[in-house]
Amino acid sequence: MSKIEMKTPLVEMDGDEMTRIIWKMIKDILINPYVNLKSEYYDLGLVHRNETDDKITFDSAEATKKYGVAVKCATITPNAARMPEYNLKEMWKSPNGTIRAILDGTVFRTPILVKGITPFIPTWTKPITIARHAYGDVYKNTEMQVPSDSKCELVCTDKDGVETRQLIHKFEGTSGIIQGLHNTDKSISSFARSCFNFALDMKKDLWFATKDTISKKYDHRFKDIFAEIFENEYKEKFYEAGIEYFYTLIDDAVARVIRSEGGYIWACKNYDGDVMSDMVATAYGSLAMMTSVLVSPDGVYEYEAAHGTVQRHYYKHLNGEETSTNSVATLFAWTGALRKRGELDNTPDLCEFADNLEKATIQTIEEGVMTGDLYLLSTLKNKKKVNTKEFLLAVNERLQKLM
Ligand code: NAP
Ligand code: MG
Repeated sequence: MSKIEMKTPLVEMDGDEMTRIIWKMIKDILINPYVNLKSEYYDLGLVHRNETDDKITFDSAEATKKYGVAVKCATITPNAARMPEYNLKEMWKSPNGTIRAILDGTVFRTPILVKGITPFIPTWTKPITIARHAYGDVYKNTEMQVPSDSKCELVCTDKDGVETRQLIHKFEGTSGIIQGLHNTDKSISSFARSCFNFALDMKKDLWFATKDTISKKYDHRFKDIFAEIFENEYKEKFYEAGIEYFYTLIDDAVARVIRSEGGYIWACKNYDGDVMSDMVATAYGSLAMMTSVLVSPDGVYEYEAAHGTVQRHYYKHLNGEETSTNSVATLFAWTGALRKRGELDNTPDLCEFADNLEKATIQTIEEGVMTGDLYLLSTLKNKKKVNTKEFLLAVNERLQKLM
């Protein structure tokens, strides 16, 4: 059998610890035997980030802009404990943060559903994709504790020095707290375009919600920007694709989500997305079955797993112990990137390969072969726990039959 050819490279960002081990296994067992992989390789492992003063992360993001598609392995975000462990020159910033800032993107997280693992909300038979706006609001706030009998105001000084003031609160007979938040029309517009583009891509409805009845200027601005961009740029495309844009209040959205069967994209403001993504991920069962894709407003895609480097398993691996680490989300990052590359390059073979690899993976789990994390959750009778490598080999057996 001849290998599938690629027209354009994708950007490959290698990473750390157990996911770095899995990365190589996936390529060796499931990609390289079938695809003549064209990738521009960037080693974002912490050792190499430290050697290059983190320049490699910036370079990989620029390359992603150039080629339009990237696949990323989980990476360590250094904390105090990592400084001596990796002999770091600096506590380098989160690569995901750096890449997101350069691509100006929105992160979409989607669970992978398999038979035998029932969501905690059993009506959720289709995946709910959460899109979190990752700029501003309470994550870039200024806050103060204020003493009793103080008067607090919002002050805006424009470029001509003209001040506009509004009273926040007069604290009488009690001390208290205040907080200043902001967002920008530019960031909200980028968020909106990423969401509309991704909904068209996935052919799924888009939901968005804020508290605009209470926050008549701040949250209302989000609602208005989404509505304007939808009217002017996306309404017809949505109609042609047979999908809808649906806006409602955040509390109404939460109630509808719980009653729903899933199958849509839920765009959330920063804080809502932080909270709701944890709720949705937990409800679907396992972080190891959650994929993540960063989509820029101009249509650049970076695929990854939502989980981290699975440090605890890596230390077992280093000790020579057997691991049973779930590779599914990392595998789906690869299939997502290959399929997108195939769509952009008009190479249907590559898209079909990605579809088959996903099918083989799901089939493997549904036939009862799974890693330890899923073994604990699955209700299948004939289930069998396998190690990290055995799982990928079992997927390969099924993939061969599909090819
Ligand atoms: P983690 O790597 O997501 O793992 C937390 C725990 O979740 C694991 O110990 C494991 O539980 C379970 N788990 C996660 N993924 C799994 C998988 N694929 N298969 C089986 N079990 C899985 O989070 P962490 O331990 O808090 O973070 C480790 C490192 O990852 C940190 O340095 C952090 O900075 C980094 N991180 C990177 C990203 C990213 O690059 N996108 C995201 C998050 C964290 P058990 O131990 O109970 O088996
Ligand atoms: Mg959270």
